[in-house]
Amino acid sequence: MPDEPFYRRVLLKISGEVLMDGREFGLDPATVKQVAGDVKAVAALGVQVCLVIGGGNIFRGISGASEGIERASADYMGMLATVINSLALQNALEAAGVTTRVLSAIPMQTVCEPYIRRRAMRHLEKGRVVIFAAGTGNPYFTTDTAAALRASEMDCDCLMKGTKVDGVYTADPMRDPTAVRLERLTHHEVLTRDLKVMDAAAITLCRENNIPILVFSIQNAGEAARVLQGRGRYTLVGGN
Ligand code: UDP
Repeated sequence: MPDEPFYRRVLLKISGEVLMDGREFGLDPATVKQVAGDVKAVAALGVQVCLVIGGGNIFRGISGASEGIERASADYMGMLATVINSLALQNALEAAGVTTRVLSAIPMQTVCEPYIRRRAMRHLEKGRVVIFAAGTGNPYFTTDTAAALRASEMDCDCLMKGTKVDGVYTADPMRDPTAVRLERLTHHEVLTRDLKVMDAAAITLCRENNIPILVFSIQNAGEAARVLQGRGRYTLVGGN
């Protein structure tokens, strides 16, 4: 029997970059399938799952702006990229037998449902995985902030950040061999030490709403379910 998961409802944030895997651009089908399998395993523990997927594998507002596109327009393009990723993940989840709904912060009725908080709550109560697309719906934000916002609105017990590394380090472990892995931190420490967990707006929102952040490697298949049972490797920001 698996250990009881710590949390009743979680929001899992996955960056677009993770879904690229080794590619230069777009989606790696095998990675999308693996992530869907991981989400399914978390749901199978009886945990209600919200998802926010980034768009950096397709378009980032900042890079568009640096190439001459007006910043707000570039950000809308980035938000549309998150809808593409959300649909890809929905597809993979449904293929794995998991019922899902995509709710977009930018209404696009023929593609998915608009974001309505109470409707999202209802989907969760019915055991559906809810994918929040189009970030916050506003330019100048990131999907990390969207994840913190939706986690707060949905009354999630934890924001799980699935990254390429197994926790928070003092520096980027891919570039700096002296980087040290940290096991436990407070939101305040993340902000004051400028640790690269999520942007400051996202960390602040989580701190104000007492939402712990669990950072783990989504590239490690099955890790999401393991860390929820207190096994595997992760860094916990805030929480008990
Ligand atoms: N974005 C935005 N508002 C939001 C969320 C996202 O404008 O609330 C845009 C922004 O341009 C960002 C892009 O969407 O660069 C993709 O999101 P993000 O960079 O957060 O994706 P990730 O790094 O997680 O793949």
